[in-house]
Amino acid sequence: MKKVLMIQTGGTIAMQAKKEGISLDPERWSEQLYKQIPLLQDIAEIDVEPLLFEDSSDLHPADWDKLIDSIECNYHQYDGFVVLHGTDTMAYTSSAVSFGIHQLGKPIIFTGSQVPLSRIRSDAQRNLVNSIEMATSDLHEVAICFNDHVFRANRSTKMSIGDFDAFSTPNYPELAEIGLEIDYHRKNWFDWTIKPKSGDIASTYTSFDKGFEGDIIVLTVHPGFRTELLDSIDLNPYDGVIIRAYGSGNFPIKKPYSWLRFIDKCTENQLITVITSQANHDSVNLSNYTSGSLASNSGALSSGDMTLEACITKLMWLLHHYSDKDLISKLFQENLKGEKSIS
Ligand code: ASP
Repeated sequence: MKKVLMIQTGGTIAMQAKKEGISLDPERWSEQLYKQIPLLQDIAEIDVEPLLFEDSSDLHPADWDKLIDSIECNYHQYDGFVVLHGTDTMAYTSSAVSFGIHQLGKPIIFTGSQVPLSRIRSDAQRNLVNSIEMATSDLHEVAICFNDHVFRANRSTKMSIGDFDAFSTPNYPELAEIGLEIDYHRKNWFDWTIKPKSGDIASTYTSFDKGFEGDIIVLTVHPGFRTELLDSIDLNPYDGVIIRAYGSGNFPIKKPYSWLRFIDKCTENQLITVITSQANHDSVNLSNYTSGSLASNSGALSSGDMTLEACITKLMWLLHHYSDKDLISKLFQENLKGEKSIS
């Protein structure tokens, strides 16, 4: 029987419903989880690692490192990993983990729930069962398994606050769909250039490469944004800026709302400047309209079809690992871990 390590980080799945709202309660959670284990042991031999116990809104890049360390320490003892995590930042943490491990040869499956496990109408049990099943499969990717769908982590984004179908990958097909049987969509697996080899062979190539540099800012364009506010930002502490523009990468270029001066200032100050979109589907194309072309001429990069979560974690990972800005810009535009379609 395969061995799976379940790593606990917190989230709604581990919370208890109380009069004041839902909150974390480690003891009651452990009782509830251990009640599920005999059922789950039919699928795999399971150990539990209580790594963190947080609402995922409180998780930070240092916690991503802790998680990567935990997977590294246990990598050769287990066939797969399930990470229990809050839904709010699951797409960030799981994207970060995908950049922090090379030549992954085993499944790392993130899951959580919209309703605590302790509640009768919870989606937790189904997500747990499905994730453990996926962690025994030959998918060697970092994935999110939620509400019968399995998505590549670094393509995923949280789409719904209240629906059981909380995640989707707007620009990439599912990796598997779970019904009476699991429908593995193998043609969608491992489409990036450095293809990991499978099983035991892959594990000998696997390397762990944590580290995320948090000094970036993300700004959202909106009608009426008073761009003189941007002049007051001291760019010195920052290495990167991500601008959430409209549509295919558009933003105002007419005074007094123009973003151009700010973009020029960012690129002159050697910040990696990325234009992404508030629209989830399809790809940013900076040559479509005047604003994008001007930004591109100034040195801004397009996010292509990457999610915001992938852009942020990839940029943080690159900034920690490299100092040459040209190399960072080049790598940012490449498809490193399946996070981006190259057209
Ligand atoms: N606030 C929770 C968290 O992300 C939400 C959830 O788990 O669904 O930890």
